[in-house]
Amino acid sequence: MKFCKKCLLPETYPGIEFDDDGVCSVCRAYEKKWKNFNFELAEIECERKIKNAESQYGTVVVTCSGGLDSSYAILLMRKKFDSNVVGANFDHGFVSDTAKKNLNKISKILNVPIITIKPDFDVMYRLYRDFLIKTGDFCTPCCQGCSRSGFLVARQNNTKTIVHGGVSGSRVEFNVLGMLKHHYERFMRYTDNNYTPDELYNIVTPTDEIKKFELISLPQCFEWNENKIIDTLRRELDWEFLPDGRTRHIDCLIADVSDFLLQKKFGFSKKWMTISANIRAGIIDIEQGRESIKQTEEKLLDEPKDAMDLFLSKIEYTRKELYNLPFYIAEPAVKYL
Ligand SMILES: [Zn+2]
Repeated sequence: MKFCKKCLLPETYPGIEFDDDGVCSVCRAYEKKWKNFNFELAEIECERKIKNAESQYGTVVVTCSGGLDSSYAILLMRKKFDSNVVGANFDHGFVSDTAKKNLNKISKILNVPIITIKPDFDVMYRLYRDFLIKTGDFCTPCCQGCSRSGFLVARQNNTKTIVHGGVSGSRVEFNVLGMLKHHYERFMRYTDNNYTPDELYNIVTPTDEIKKFELISLPQCFEWNENKIIDTLRRELDWEFLPDGRTRHIDCLIADVSDFLLQKKFGFSKKWMTISANIRAGIIDIEQGRESIKQTEEKLLDEPKDAMDLFLSKIEYTRKELYNLPFYIAEPAVKYL
């Protein structure tokens, strides 16, 4: 199996192409996009937008899960811009205690009110099951919900500006070539009219409603170095990660199940995609990345039993049914790395 000479994405990555030097199309596009990018200017422009929004609406919303990117986004907003912010949080039904603790610390230390949007959990678990059965993974309803909380809290606070730490479109974007499709249209297609508008109200935002708001992604304008971010969060917020040392997706108790199933479906997980993104951005070198991918992907060869038990019990589904789904046919690429 072939891997990109620069970022280690495997040749089985959907839509990827390699040039004669063995470098992938994602790396080539990355070089082009960021070569002449003016970060100073991007920061200034971002600050201008935030200040404008504040003077117009009095406050801006920051979506926050207690995880790494969103905690840093809210910290930047308070410490760098001294902004008047309200946090918008979504309870997806699998929130970890660590995330709850981090949210409490953010709220207290940074003096930020955080509003949690709670969906009807029966609906949420039904959605996870439907997506699992129809697509082989189940993250889309939660992705929709996390973003939905921003719009709902913005409405409650009469503001039209939502700031977030989502890395899409930034130098550390991991979901390259649109591999994981979590957008509204796809969401609606798979819900297949089986849910009432009321049931979905707290979970999903129609595209034409999204257009009425201004979304600002901080990772697109600022340095977004995972290692430095963790240091800063620990120092400033006494921020915690999971007991097993995991620093990404600490807000979700079943993130390992998602990665485990992604590896079975595609041959590699979101963790691999994230590490490749960090290599492209120069945050880690290729050999560090290779070691890191090997470690994390090999762990996923075995089912994360406790997390899987929790997931299956909540969505009322059995292991037998899960493993009989037709999606899990890929060979783990890590065997060849
Ligand atoms: Zn590459």
